[in-house]
Amino acid sequence: MNEVDPRRAIPRTDALLMLPGVAAARTRLGEHVVRGLVRDTQDRARRGELAADQVEYAVLKQLSEHAGTTLRPVLNATGVVVHTNLGRAPLSAAAVDALVAAGGYVDVELNLATGARSARGVAARAALLAACPPAEDALVVTNGAAALVLATTALAAGKEVVVSRGELIEIGAGFRLPDLIASTGARLREVGTTNRTHLRDYAEVLGPQTGCILKVHPSNFVVRGFTAAVELGELRSLAGEYAVPLVADLGSGLLAPDALLPGEPDASTALTDGADVITASGDKLLGGPQAGVVLGRTEIVTRLARHPLARAVRADKLTLAALEATVSGAAPPVVRALHADPTVLQTRAQRLAGAVGAVVVAHDGRVGGGGAPGVPLPGWAVRLPEAVAAPLRLGDPAVLPRVHDGACLLDLRCVPEADDERLLAAVRAALDRIS
Ligand SMILES: *Cc1c(COP(=O)(O)O)cnc(C)c1O
Repeated sequence: MNEVDPRRAIPRTDALLMLPGVAAARTRLGEHVVRGLVRDTQDRARRGELAADQVEYAVLKQLSEHAGTTLRPVLNATGVVVHTNLGRAPLSAAAVDALVAAGGYVDVELNLATGARSARGVAARAALLAACPPAEDALVVTNGAAALVLATTALAAGKEVVVSRGELIEIGAGFRLPDLIASTGARLREVGTTNRTHLRDYAEVLGPQTGCILKVHPSNFVVRGFTAAVELGELRSLAGEYAVPLVADLGSGLLAPDALLPGEPDASTALTDGADVITASGDKLLGGPQAGVVLGRTEIVTRLARHPLARAVRADKLTLAALEATVSGAAPPVVRALHADPTVLQTRAQRLAGAVGAVVVAHDGRVGGGGAPGVPLPGWAVRLPEAVAAPLRLGDPAVLPRVHDGACLLDLRCVPEADDERLLAAVRAALDRIS
């Protein structure tokens, strides 16, 4: 036994820590992260998964790639545009830049000209008002649910929130509108039935005990058949007669109508039709960061902004920066994916399929995120064996396909065209793993 144990050649911890690149990473990532990574790499070499003379290189490579988060970027090949499990809307390049810029000290609540404190988030507010002319004022909070809680609390705590039985929805993951309203100290006053609600149903219950009328967009289902609902325009006169605020919870965050989604309400139309205030999410069809957007009449928005709860749901500077950039910038990825040209999608799918010997099939994408239920987004998918789905998810880059009918489908609608080469490489690697 005069052969040297190869494990003795594995570089020692102190030697690795002293490498210039590693020393710099200790300042950037922290001692704990760097030591853990060094130890893991040495362990891989001890198990024989890595040659001893590769340890140094492997440590440096991993440190340079270390993102400070274990969240992994995923190529969304499902065709679902607003994918809740993938964090809803991906940000535009402009929004990412804005977010990075806002990472340091920024004048989020300061007037640099006078040196005095200013209102918070004036730039995001201005961008929203420019994009939604019928709105007099705007307020940004943490998410759509918070916007709704703030509105019902500020307008109706101790009073009644009048809402149609056809709009008592569960959004997802157990988030139920009636529970949410009950938690605010407002009482829910249900009117009408599941399928039909009339103007007189509202009229019968309005009075001094009414805090507000709430119209909720049932974003994730449709009722067909013998149905009736009261539109905002009709509710407007009733609300005026009883001097109660009319709130519309729109959900999706469209600021103006989109011809592709005729059933989807938008803020401009809802306010023009008579809502005093609307609430919506920032990270659905608006295509921005997680946020709750309140738009509407100055008097009502001010009541919400001045309520003590507003402080508990206020948006952070990163959100405000990314939202401003989204609203005032070029079409964000969500909008581009929704309006993707089917011919271009087909060409891209054929290129990918041709490179790996697969076929292209017709495939409908979806809006997702509980929006525009039943609205298909016609497109194409590359059809692969189902077994390739798991290696795709675990590959680098991670790819999330749609598994359907015993096949693994790759819909390129939500994959940026610039990532087609990376996707192809990931597909080749995944196919290799199952062959
Ligand atoms: C999504 C949605 C909400 C909740 O918004 P979050 O941003 O998820 O908190 C509320 N109401 C409607 C109609 C929705 O679609």
